[in-house]
Amino acid sequence: MRYEGSVYRPPSESRSWILQATIGCSHNKCTFCSMYKDKSFRIRSTDEIIEEIHEARNTYGSLKRIFIADGDALMIKTDELLQIIKELRNTFPECERIGIYSSPRSIHLKSKEELSSLKEAGLGIAYLGLESGSEKILESVKKGDDREGIISAGIKLKDSGLLLSVTVISGLGGKENWEEHAKETASAVNKINPDYLGLLTLMIEPGTELWNQVESGEFAILTPYEIAQETLLMLEHLDCHGCVFRSNHASNYVSLKGTLNQDKEEMIKTLENALNDGDFKEEWMRRL
Ligand code: SF4
Repeated sequence: MRYEGSVYRPPSESRSWILQATIGCSHNKCTFCSMYKDKSFRIRSTDEIIEEIHEARNTYGSLKRIFIADGDALMIKTDELLQIIKELRNTFPECERIGIYSSPRSIHLKSKEELSSLKEAGLGIAYLGLESGSEKILESVKKGDDREGIISAGIKLKDSGLLLSVTVISGLGGKENWEEHAKETASAVNKINPDYLGLLTLMIEPGTELWNQVESGEFAILTPYEIAQETLLMLEHLDCHGCVFRSNHASNYVSLKGTLNQDKEEMIKTLENALNDGDFKEEWMRRL
C-alpha cells in the first residue's frame, strides 16, 4: 500500500485497514498536535484510491473494518466520497464498518442530506475531535473552530444517522484552566450526546507550539493525580444516555470504560479509589 508519512487512526480503529484518501490535515495548526506537521493537505485522486482498494483486496483478501484517513477525509467532495464508499462496499461486502475522520468544517460543508447519503452508501462512523468544550481553551490551542461550531457539527452528524465518536483531551487546559475544561467539556458533550466518547491524555510532543509553552513555563501540565481529579469532575457533570465512554488508551493514567449514564457511578468509584490509593499508570507517555 502507498502510505505517505506517518498514518494515524483512532485507538478503536487499531485493527482496521487504513485507506489514506487524503494526505495530512486541512487545519494543521493546533498547538498540541504534531501528527501531520510534515504534510501539506491534499486529496488523492479518486482513480488512485480505487486502484488502491483493488490492491488491498489482492493483498488482504477480506477485511472486517476499514478506516478512511488522514486528518480530515470528510473534506472529500460528496460525489467522490460516495464513489469511494460504494467501491469499498462492492469490493469488501463482508466489511462490518467503514469509519472516517471528520472536522467541524468538513461536516458543515456538507448538507444533512449529503451526510445521510454517505450513511446510505455504507459509511458507518465519523470521528470528531472536540478536544475541549471551553471557548478559552479552544482559542488558546488554535483549534480553529469555536465551541458552538463543534457542537452544531456533532449534532448535525448524529442527525444524519451516522454514528459519532467524539474525542476529548484530558489536561488540555493545564493547571490554570482544568476546572473550566472539565465542566465546559462535559456540557458540550451533553449537548452533542455522541454514540462514543473517548478520553485521551495530553502528550507534549517535541516540535509543537505547546512544547515551547511548557519549556517557557507559559503552560503547566497536570500531574496524574490532577488529571484524575479533572476526569472525575468531568464525569460528575456528564449526562449522556447510551454513550459508550472509553478512557483506556495507553496515554490514560486510570483505565475507565462503561456506558453513560448507567455506569457513571461505577467509573466515579474507580477514579476515587485511584485518587485515594495513588494508583496511576506510569507517566511515560505524558512528555515524549
Ligand atoms: S488536532 Fe486534528 S485538527 Fe488539529 S492539527 Fe491535529 S489533526 Fe489537525
